[in-house]
Amino acid sequence: MASHILQRLLQSEDSHMDKVVVQKYGGSSLSTLEKIRTVAGKIKEAREQGNALAVVVSAMGGETDRLLELLFKLNDAPPGREQDTLLSTGEQASASLMAAALEYIGCPAQSFLGLQLPLYTDNVHTKARIIQLEGNKVKKALEEGKVAIIAGFQGINDYGDITTLGRGGSDTTAVALAASLEADVCEIYTDVDGIYTTDPGITPRARHLDKISYEEMLELAGLGAKVLQIRAVELARKYYVPLMVKSTFGGERGTWIVKEEDIDMESAIVSGISLDRNEGKITVIGVPDRPGIAHSVISPLADASVNVDMIIQNVSSEGYTDFTFTVPVNDLELAREIVEKEASNIGAQEVRINDSIVKVSAVGIGMKNHPGVAAKMFRTLSEENINLQMISTSEIRISCVIDSKYGELAVRVLHQAFNLDKN
Ligand code: ADP
Ligand code: ASP
Ligand code: MG
Repeated sequence: MASHILQRLLQSEDSHMDKVVVQKYGGSSLSTLEKIRTVAGKIKEAREQGNALAVVVSAMGGETDRLLELLFKLNDAPPGREQDTLLSTGEQASASLMAAALEYIGCPAQSFLGLQLPLYTDNVHTKARIIQLEGNKVKKALEEGKVAIIAGFQGINDYGDITTLGRGGSDTTAVALAASLEADVCEIYTDVDGIYTTDPGITPRARHLDKISYEEMLELAGLGAKVLQIRAVELARKYYVPLMVKSTFGGERGTWIVKEEDIDMESAIVSGISLDRNEGKITVIGVPDRPGIAHSVISPLADASVNVDMIIQNVSSEGYTDFTFTVPVNDLELAREIVEKEASNIGAQEVRINDSIVKVSAVGIGMKNHPGVAAKMFRTLSEENINLQMISTSEIRISCVIDSKYGELAVRVLHQAFNLDKN
């Protein structure tokens, strides 16, 4: 349902607006001026069909990486505040380019940066969380018959500094905007025509899904399927935002993200396989085994906003134990510094870092009622002689950390073993 102001707009007699639609175009859909022109044409068409349209744009494809590369050439540990100010320029540029391209073809448009909305976030630079998105300026632009173009991925904190929402954060801007506008739908346009049983870039045998549950999508997004940022899925579930993923330049089909009840109960036990290349492993060796040790290693990481994922503590031998966990690769250096300091405080022997690991996972709500998935997963990987370094599970997921050189092989054999292959 559209919000009250828009409701008025939609119901007024001279209005022909049917629906409030939020669209988001990712970097790969905007990597050249030609693509920006094509997308502008699509936007104009959608507006002419009678939709009130708010469009979130990412930076032009490759731009965020290009800016990061420049920054890291000057400073291998750049201040987060400077990183955010720099990276936000990617979305700033594409928002105004898109608005100008629309105006040129006779479609009234106005661009908005995060700080103009404003979109308020917390103070955690480079991975800020949205606190509030003020939708009134966008609503006013829509009332005036304009298409609102919103720079994704960026916000401001309470110091007035620019923040960014983490890689892939424009997805989250789009869902937050859709929630704020009470939009009828939030459409994520990208270079694939929906969610597949695994990354179609890894195997052509990946199968298209017409729908997937929020729970499964949350797991996949948290496990490396970058097609949607995990926070976008969290927000969509929390605010009941009707969310779908579609192709920018392909056909009409897409994937709806829906409630678990709306999934066919006869559906597969495992719905998807994911590969996460974004974690590194830290092992603290020879830790004196006494109460409070895990706390002293992990707490300083939490204080530095480093997300610790899988954690294993070995059985103790002669009063000493080993302690292994994974963190995002981007935080590996920071984590190493923190853990080395802590390790010497608690009298541990050594800290080892391994950045050539990946996490392969099988996800599916059907696992809740079907034992044996883990056994099948371990057997399949062992048949390929792939060694499991760490294992973790949730109600609907099993994840294994393995050597990165076997990542794609593991995805392919598991995809086949769980009968997900096409045909
Ligand atoms: P955008 O630039 O539009 O934000 P992304 O590159 O962030 O696009 O996300 C789209 C990519 O996500 C696809 O090209 C695909 O390789 C990858 N991907 C990973 N896992 C999946 C999956 N299960 N289904 C579809 N795409 C996936
Ligand atoms: N431009 C940012 C990135 O590349 C945000 C986004 O595309 O969603 O991660
Ligand atoms: Mg993305």
